Amino acid sequence: MHSPLVNGGPADPIARRRTFAIISHPDAGKTTLTEKLLLFGGAIQLAGEVKAKRNRVQTRSDWMGIERERGISVVTSVMTFEYGGCVFNLLDTPGHEDFSEDTYRTLTAVDAAVMVIDAAKGIEARTRKLFEVCRLRDIPIVTFVNKLDRESRDPFDLLDEIEKTLALDTAPINWPIGAGKSFAGTYTFGTKTVRRIADDETMTVSGAEDSAVAALLPAHEAGAWQEEAMLAEAALKPFDLAAFREGHLTPVFFGSALRNFGIRELIDAMAAYAPSPRGQEADKRTVEADEPKMTGFVFKIQANMDPNHRDRIAFMRVCSGRLTRGMKAKLVRTGKAISLNAPQFFFAQDRTVADEAYAGDVVGIPNHGTLRIGDTLTEGEDIVFRGVPSFAPEILRRISIKDAMKAKKLREALEQLAEEGVVQLFIPNDGSGAIVGVVGALQLDVLIERLKTEYGLDAAYETTRFSVCRWVSADDKAELDKFATANNSAMAADLDGAPVFMASSPFSLRYDEERWPTIRFSDVKDYQ
Ligand code: GDP
Repeated sequence: MHSPLVNGGPADPIARRRTFAIISHPDAGKTTLTEKLLLFGGAIQLAGEVKAKRNRVQTRSDWMGIERERGISVVTSVMTFEYGGCVFNLLDTPGHEDFSEDTYRTLTAVDAAVMVIDAAKGIEARTRKLFEVCRLRDIPIVTFVNKLDRESRDPFDLLDEIEKTLALDTAPINWPIGAGKSFAGTYTFGTKTVRRIADDETMTVSGAEDSAVAALLPAHEAGAWQEEAMLAEAALKPFDLAAFREGHLTPVFFGSALRNFGIRELIDAMAAYAPSPRGQEADKRTVEADEPKMTGFVFKIQANMDPNHRDRIAFMRVCSGRLTRGMKAKLVRTGKAISLNAPQFFFAQDRTVADEAYAGDVVGIPNHGTLRIGDTLTEGEDIVFRGVPSFAPEILRRISIKDAMKAKKLREALEQLAEEGVVQLFIPNDGSGAIVGVVGALQLDVLIERLKTEYGLDAAYETTRFSVCRWVSADDKAELDKFATANNSAMAADLDGAPVFMASSPFSLRYDEERWPTIRFSDVKDYQ
């Protein structure tokens, strides 16, 4: 896979950008692959920090400690490195499943994704879920089948599983030569080359049938391999750039992150084929990446290390124009101007470019709660970027505090933490206590801990009869009002005041959906 970009690369800063994330099931090898990609890009000092992260076992009990070390997670939220003339922005997606909302939102800020699959396991639950989020925006996916140095499933079987479970066409770029103990390397169809794992050297062969390939395998495996590889070459789909860019086809690479094998092919493919920053849809129009004026949206908020100062870092994806240190930008939600005095850039390597960022880049903007998830910043235009979604929580709890005098303080704290995306907040229409919603149970612990340490509030949960909720809307406002009145005790308003219906079980929700055909019940909400 050779590309004109790999030697030298385009001069245009936007065409050079590749902003992507890695999606995978825990343990498939995301951290190892990240490390290897960074080593390739020369960002070695960062690779060490990724490693440090891996050694921490993310269990419930030590999560708080981990979060206190946010210095590292801020750094690893965005990892920028240069390779093959391209500037890669690798956006980290938290590994723990309880952080799934953060992960989903991060995926709204990327233009491509690398899907890592464990060759022994195939498509696992979380990979599938994350893939579905990518599909919402038709994000192009490059697949890396990892751990070929271990016993693996049959490659045909793996490709078939990707096609069937994800409804995604596959185009294998290379083919593993053996697996586990006999893993000898990969054969690349297009170039008729073999890369050997023993010495990482490449040799050109006449084709899969070349006896030089068979010679790499134990005698009893060679014949079957030849047959299989020739069948794969003849029968499988060739790589189609347009279908890849539209999110319908994934090129597939086989390798081993741990053995640093197959990474070069993967990153070359990202440089050559992954899209540069694409146009982003806003409410009034699509904003193209090469427009001169700066625009961007906030997809993640991270509380800073010091709990005594309510500092937060808002991560903004630049969508167009050029962001420079000190520039003024309009926060569209409030109409106010904010100064980008101390944006943090993540170009670890080259300080000379650290004062400006382009479409596709991510900058960290320190602020004291001015910025929220989903916020749009512009040079004056009133547009709002779409597509930082909120997902209906899977767990609902009523939250209360013993000291009634502190009810107002609790409400304020909950609003702030909801703006940060720690929990979702629902204020019941009937005046009863606030309800919080989370995707994973760990978030509940985090909320109580943060209320205590940062706000001095001793809050506790009470059960509520509600277990599911949906945003409700209707074409006819009178219908929605009728529904809300009839269900007053099950209605609430979210942080933006949008109406939410809560039900005691998925079963009763279905019942209400059938009873009210004019009402839309949605489990995803775009911010704003
Ligand atoms: P993550 O949870 O997806 O970030 O996975 P890690 O990168 O932490 O990897 C999980 C485990 O699999 C670790 O013990 C890695 O050393 C191991 N691992 C990752 N890649 C490979 C590989 O290519 N071959 C083998 N044998 N082990 C691997």
